[in-house]
Amino acid sequence: MSILKEKYDVIIVGAGVAGLNCALNLPQDVSALLICKKSPKQSDSYLAQGGICMLRGDFDYDEYYNDTMRAGHYENNPAAVECMIKGSREIIADLENCGVAFKKNADGSFACTREGGHTSPRILFHEDCTGKEITAALFKKVKKLKNVQIQSDTVMLDIIENGSECFGLVVYSQKEKAVKKIYADYTVLATGGIGGAFGNTTNFRVLTGDALAICLKHGVAVDNINYIQTHPTTLYSRKRGRRFLITESIRGEGAHLLDKNFNRFTDELQPRDVVKNAVLEQMRKDGTDFVWLDMRPIPKEEIESHFPSIVSRCAEEGYDVFTQPIPVVPAIHYFMGGIRSDLNGRTTLPRLYAVGETSCTGVHGKNRLASNSLLESLLFAKRAARDITVGYSAADEKAARAVITDTKKYSDHEKLLREYKRTVNKAVKLADSGVDINEKFKEKRI
Ligand SMILES: Cc1cc2nc3c(=O)[nH]c(=O)nc-3n(C[C@H](O)[C@H](O)[C@H](O)COP(=O)(O)OP(=O)(O)OC[C@H]3O[C@@H](n4cnc5c(N)ncnc54)[C@H](O)[C@@H]3O)c2cc1C
Repeated sequence: MSILKEKYDVIIVGAGVAGLNCALNLPQDVSALLICKKSPKQSDSYLAQGGICMLRGDFDYDEYYNDTMRAGHYENNPAAVECMIKGSREIIADLENCGVAFKKNADGSFACTREGGHTSPRILFHEDCTGKEITAALFKKVKKLKNVQIQSDTVMLDIIENGSECFGLVVYSQKEKAVKKIYADYTVLATGGIGGAFGNTTNFRVLTGDALAICLKHGVAVDNINYIQTHPTTLYSRKRGRRFLITESIRGEGAHLLDKNFNRFTDELQPRDVVKNAVLEQMRKDGTDFVWLDMRPIPKEEIESHFPSIVSRCAEEGYDVFTQPIPVVPAIHYFMGGIRSDLNGRTTLPRLYAVGETSCTGVHGKNRLASNSLLESLLFAKRAARDITVGYSAADEKAARAVITDTKKYSDHEKLLREYKRTVNKAVKLADSGVDINEKFKEKRI
């Protein structure tokens, strides 16, 4: 790990699929810094299980589009949905070029699985660890780039801006044990979701929505921040810590949800929010802390080859999925809202971009269709890198240095991060009660 420089062309915050794909798509004469809060493996991208959607051919366009819109309660941004679906084949080709091994049929075509809300199978996968397969391949490739410096244990504490443009970041470097100002012509926020700001979540604890809180503080517009998806099925456990996801593709392959008397109580392949509500309602009726998920309708060989990580994690918790149902419960999972960004990742503050789960293009509407998020993150990150490249102009260095940023006020960085977490919690609650968040935070700044 090298020392941080004072200036880069581009700074990318986040080492998940969005940050990595943005770095990969910058020209090699552009110097970039890519930072992440802890280790690069602590990104939700590593955790993705089910897979990534792809438009199988023109014949599937209308159904894929309608499935995405229906899941999102038709609150989706149609242009973003169209852009994502039409760009999906290019993204899959890029991933294969990076060495990602998707499951294939004997004839060499992609094997496709299905999840809730999809009318037909169109999800590519690598066992039940598609995210790890993709993220590790991208990381390996970015690591080889001479123009990209990867710096882990480096936390974004703030952005540097003058009301008209963004000029970089204030960060805390664990290695240097110092708060530093780093300037850049362009800054890209790829900081993932906000699940870590809440108790019961599938997300890594470090993902607490710092970028969202920072944008609120600086008047960068955000949208739909109370649109938070709860996943219907995580492994029930009394232990503290992150909830272990049981991918929806298990239900896509035939697993059943059962009540306390081991009877089915819902159609398992409806969109996520519908199944989650059915599970919560059943728990209420039964007076239980969980419902059962029975994988036994799936052929044993399919379970073994497709879901090895789930089999072994359940075994660690004392469940043999081949002979008994497992207890499952809903948990906070995915952030559909976020920092307002256009189809090229531009936020409302010039020179500041947002991509991946932290951004909101409106592609998911009110509820994300399963396995659209890896695709969304990869695609809009690539578009942001292209947008930066095509319109590249150096920032005004004098204006950047004129922004007075006293690094002393960041010395207790842990306290600041706790404050950001509280801001996120409070803002979500306010948005939920109908308050216009952008207006509310504008008032606070005046
Ligand atoms: C258990 C689980 C299973 C999932 N399965 C699927 C699936 O099958 N298919 C699918 O499409 N999607 C799935 N998702 C969702 C998907 O994984 C994420 O939406 C996607 O990976 C987000 O990528 P990202 O790059 O935006 O963020 P992340 O991969 O979460 O990366 C965020 C990065 O930002 C960094 N960061 C955050 N704050 C700071 C800060 N202040 N300073 C510096 N760095 C910071 C973090 O360190 C991290 O490196 C799943 C999610 C989970 C949790």
